Amino acid sequence: MSPSKKNPFRRLYDKILDFILPRKCILCGKINPKGEFENICPKCARSIKLLNGARCLICAEPVGDANQPDIVGCPNCMRFPPDFNRCFAVAAFDGAVREMIIELKYRTGTYIMRDMSILVKKSRGIREFLQDAILVPVPLHRSRIIRRKYNQSDLIARMLAKTFPECNIKVKPMLKRIRKTKTQTTLDRDERAENMRGAFAIADKSAISKIPKDGKIIVVDDVITTSVTLSECAKIIKGAGYKNVNAFAIARRI
Ligand SMILES: [Zn+2]
Ligand SMILES: [Zn+2]
Repeated sequence: MSPSKKNPFRRLYDKILDFILPRKCILCGKINPKGEFENICPKCARSIKLLNGARCLICAEPVGDANQPDIVGCPNCMRFPPDFNRCFAVAAFDGAVREMIIELKYRTGTYIMRDMSILVKKSRGIREFLQDAILVPVPLHRSRIIRRKYNQSDLIARMLAKTFPECNIKVKPMLKRIRKTKTQTTLDRDERAENMRGAFAIADKSAISKIPKDGKIIVVDDVITTSVTLSECAKIIKGAGYKNVNAFAIARRI
């Protein structure tokens, strides 16, 4: 909501709060930035690259500008077909979006979810993609949840359900991580695939018995890099009898 649309009491409350607990732009450190986002100043918000142009509908790779048509399957998907049917990513993993994810993942900055909610609303076609979906967060290993106190993919899934109440979204943590995996950042595609193999399983057989087999399932992660993690999750869900299994990430490495 823009400041002018807020009621006067809310505006006063925000002013007091900004005085006591000043907000900072997560990129440049500017105090109490005014603009669309709460914690990104308008100048740094220009670093956000929404993936609103033409895209590969299978892996969400950008393939052209907004005037060009979307394609079903890019050369990369043809070479390494993922186990999910379709994938959607909101923005490039860069600038302010990269910083938002780092804040959430490594600095316990859950306050950033409000800005993430503003971000996802700007994404082309997101409502159609999420309509009537059952969102499945990519699970973390127990030891990592203890350290981080939450699963960021779970927070993202719940934020989506709250941001788009008209889309009839449900969040169902259908999966569990049964094996600890290495951090993927330094691994290449083959090493990532090897690292993820057998990492996930259906969390609870009785819980999925209530989820209809023809439901639209979307596995949710923070960042998509090589699709290996999301694809491995989709494989397990498909193995449990679901066919309409898709993937979603806030950011995509381009
Ligand atoms: Zn800034
Ligand atoms: Zn593709």
